[in-house]
Amino acid sequence: MKDWIKAGEIASSAREYGKKLIKVGASHLEVTEKIEAKIISLGGEIAFPTQISINNIAAHYTSLFEGDVKFKEGDVCKLDLGVHVNGAIGDTAVTVDLGSNDSLVKASLNALNAAIKIAKPGVSVNEIGKVIHKEITSLGFSPIVNLGGHGLDKWKIHTAPSIPNFDNGDKTKLVEGQVIAIEPFASNGSGLIFEGKGSEIYQLEKEGNIRDANARKILKFVSEKYKTLPFAKRQLPFNKLQLTVGLSALKRNGFLHEYGVLPEKKEGSLVSQHEHTLIIGDRVTTK
Ligand code: MN
Ligand code: MN
Repeated sequence: MKDWIKAGEIASSAREYGKKLIKVGASHLEVTEKIEAKIISLGGEIAFPTQISINNIAAHYTSLFEGDVKFKEGDVCKLDLGVHVNGAIGDTAVTVDLGSNDSLVKASLNALNAAIKIAKPGVSVNEIGKVIHKEITSLGFSPIVNLGGHGLDKWKIHTAPSIPNFDNGDKTKLVEGQVIAIEPFASNGSGLIFEGKGSEIYQLEKEGNIRDANARKILKFVSEKYKTLPFAKRQLPFNKLQLTVGLSALKRNGFLHEYGVLPEKKEGSLVSQHEHTLIIGDRVTTK
């Protein structure tokens, strides 16, 4: 459990450091890179590319390989980061509101706190979903029902059980010592996301031989450094041409999966998120 606890502590420190950097006019890429440098300086590794998803984008937006954006007045920014220590992961998120969306932010925070309070051995996951739904709707918002929390395993970000953001009837019980992330999303839109365009966040699907030399170099690098954890195009130490050719060959041949960004179905809507990692029956590692 030592590595899980350490990963959680580093993730918590990086989150608190990062949320202070998100200001009107600040560069998305600079903030992201500072947070990732902080994780390394604290003795952690990056478990997945640091994501700062803005406004209607609920999740899976990381700085792109080319083209930076600046934070603007009114932006609702979800900072979601992951740290690993020998593969043991801390996954945590906070919303930074650059506008005046206090109750939207509060909705996902209250939901997370209420869910943590009842997350004990023997509690079924739909009970967690029920309190999340209740807290968010009581402030007049919708939980995003097709996103949710998850189990965590060494080198694996998403494992069973799924932790729903509403009562989905799943009676799977939480087990002592199990590591899970709880992540309520509150929306003033439809409460549904869809998979949008490519995020430049990839994950290894399989290993093996590929003919293209650039693809082969990238494959060797990512399978050693990231194993089954996600990584971003901007994190790879290859030039633009190598990446363009190599990544597309790897995707085409089923070696890599590219995640899509996850926007709310309703245009112009706003989404907040809070997330912690817990060891059931023991502690919140990312407190
Ligand atoms: Mn997360
Ligand atoms: Mn998560």
